[in-house]
This record gives sequence, C-alpha cells and structure tokens, in this order.
Amino acid sequence: MLANRLGKIPKFAILMYHDVYLPYIPDLLSEYMHPSFRLPQKKFLEQMLFLKEQRYQIVVLNELVNMLVCDELNKKTVVITFDDGLSSNYNVVFPILKEFGFKANFFITVNKIGSVDYMNLEEIKELSRAGMGVYSHTLNHHLMSELQMIDMEKEISLSKKILEEELQKKVDFISFPDGSYNSKALGLVKNASYIGACNSDTGYFNLKTDKFRIPRITVKSNYDLTEFKKIVTGDSLFVMKLKGEFLIKRIIEKIIGKKLYKIIFIFFLKRSLENK
Ligand SMILES: [Zn+2]
Repeated sequence: MLANRLGKIPKFAILMYHDVYLPYIPDLLSEYMHPSFRLPQKKFLEQMLFLKEQRYQIVVLNELVNMLVCDELNKKTVVITFDDGLSSNYNVVFPILKEFGFKANFFITVNKIGSVDYMNLEEIKELSRAGMGVYSHTLNHHLMSELQMIDMEKEISLSKKILEEELQKKVDFISFPDGSYNSKALGLVKNASYIGACNSDTGYFNLKTDKFRIPRITVKSNYDLTEFKKIVTGDSLFVMKLKGEFLIKRIIEKIIGKKLYKIIFIFFLKRSLENK
C-alpha cells in the first residue's frame, strides 16, 4: 500500500473552481456568482503552469477512484473540479487544459444547459469526448437541505439520467450546490448508483475519505501563487486556517440562513467598493 510505503496516509487536493474570466472587467457584483469564485484567466494559467512544471499528475474522479483500488496513486496527484457548467469553462478553461494536457471534472447544472452564461450541450459533449469528467450538479441548483424528499430525488437521479443519455457515458459523481447536503441526500445519491459525491467542506482527500463526502479546497480569486502552492503541496497549517474560516461561515449561515448571509455579504462588498 502507498500508505505503508510512505509511512503515513498521503493526502490529495481536490481543487474547486467555478468561473475563470478573460481579461475584461467582469461584473464582480453579479448576484449569481460569489466574487471570490471568479478567477482572472492569468491567475488560473499561473496555477496550471505551476502544476505542469512540478509534474503533478492531474486526474478525473473516476481515475482517482480506480487508482485507489489499483494502488497507483502517487503523492503528487491533484484533481481539478469546476461547478455549475458556466460558458467560461468551455471558452476559457478548456483551451488551457488542452494546452497543458490536463483533465478536469465539470459538474453540470442540467436545467441551465444552453442558457445565458452556461455551456450548451454540444460544448459539454466536446468536454466529455476529450476525456474530461462530466458529472451532475443537480437539475436546478437548489440547496438539497431545503428540499422535500420527492424533489431531492428528482434533482439527484434525473440529472444523472439526462446527462447519461446525452453523453452516452456513465455519470458516476455529483457535487452538491453550495455544498448543501444531509443524510437523506446521501442516501438518494447511493440509491441512484453514483459512486461518489463532492461537497464544499474544506479538506484533503485521503485513502480513508468517504467517497460520498469528498471534501474540496476552493481556489479563491484572492489567493496568490504562494497560497496556491500551499494548498497543492499539502500545507496543513494553511488548510487548517481555511477550514476555520469555512466553519465560521457555516455557523453564521446556520444562524441566519444561507440566503441572508449571501445578501449581507454582497451588501458589504458593494459598500466597500463604493467607498474606494
Ligand atoms: Zn454550484
């Protein structure tokens, strides 16, 4: 086992991205996307260059799970994920991935396919044909914890079925919108024959990680390259700090609700920008 050879359980970063924008002034205050989830192309390029130069092995989630079974994971493995299925994933991210010979995982919000700012079906199919992981991000991007069982079931299983029919490929993973899930959602994910689920909890993936509770590390737009290096090289102190920040956010969200938290965040962000 890899764990025995190294003397301790190795950990791998599963990076979470959403949007990467070209060098034009983006609408950072857009209500649909948290500004910290929108990276300038230059920053993303820099990060991919670092992974290339350091010879990281970049894999899709299906490969990660197979490698675990076959004990083929090496210490320098990184997984890149994109949530939502935004147009920039195809227009900006895909060309960069091709240039570096990297594969990433795209979680698609099925009922948004082809709408403004989202990839269309042909683009998603092209990603899939190029060997990218194309998986479900539910039908409508609702918070699972706020849904009735019947609606939750539809979001989880129908999104899988539609994608599988369109792509003619198994859709083995799901990521929960806004990282919202509960034990009912996990049960439905297992019933629908997914083999794993990603959430937005902060942490590394290791050989003991529950495949239905895969944590990720958000690459935020304000991180510099040094911070990115800390994430992928497994700097536990830095990730502990991120975990702390994430927990505080979750506690506040629990007290006042996710929607209100977001409204207050955007309100203060707008005010701080107006005062500059
Ligand atoms: Zn999302």
